[in-house]
Amino acid sequence: MSNFIVGLTGGIGSGKTTVANIFAAYGVTLIDADIIARDIVKPQTPALVKIVERFGNNYLGADGYLDRAKLREKVFNDSTAKQWLNNLLHPLIRSTIGKELSAAKSAYCLLIAPLLIENKLTHYVNRVLVVDVDEKTQLTRAMLRDNNSQTLIKNIMKSQLPRQERLAVADDIIDNTVALDKVHKQVEKLHQFYLNLASTK
Ligand code: ATP
Repeated sequence: MSNFIVGLTGGIGSGKTTVANIFAAYGVTLIDADIIARDIVKPQTPALVKIVERFGNNYLGADGYLDRAKLREKVFNDSTAKQWLNNLLHPLIRSTIGKELSAAKSAYCLLIAPLLIENKLTHYVNRVLVVDVDEKTQLTRAMLRDNNSQTLIKNIMKSQLPRQERLAVADDIIDNTVALDKVHKQVEKLHQFYLNLASTK
């Protein structure tokens, strides 16, 4: 059980995965809120059964998996449906995160959550680490990576916290506008810092 948790967050395309993988190379256990959110609605799960009961079969793809994009669109325009879905999924996400933390063996863990602040997961972490890039870099990298349109990325950016508000909540910040070797150095320093904090907690 790790009893020291660092919440890693940042906007779309800011470099969360890149940074998390550098921490993982130091043996730090990664807990990914997005992966958990997908796993709890896999085919045959009780949560997916409830979602289909409420919204209908047309929210399932041909492969039996939840059509997440369609459901996202639905709840975007329907606050009651959004509340219902959050009430179903958020406790499940939190309990799964708790189980993964209990099973973790490293001195501290990273909880990767793009919406760490927006979804109020900050209560569950000891430090908030923000991966920061300027909006222009964010847009360019996110578009390049997935071949996404500028409009789509801009819309996602709008649905996330503005850069300055995210930075205002940060305990620690990684500047990811720089070359990767410089990012590695920042991670190395923070890793030592977190090991110290975890050992004195
Ligand atoms: P998402 O929120 O969309 O999952 P993310 O925050 O996990 O994104 P990454 O996938 O790590 O972001 O990075 C986005 C893109 O930017 C990737 O193609 C990655 O290779 C590139 N990238 C990340 N950091 C750097 C860097 N320091 N220099 C150049 N490219 C980078």
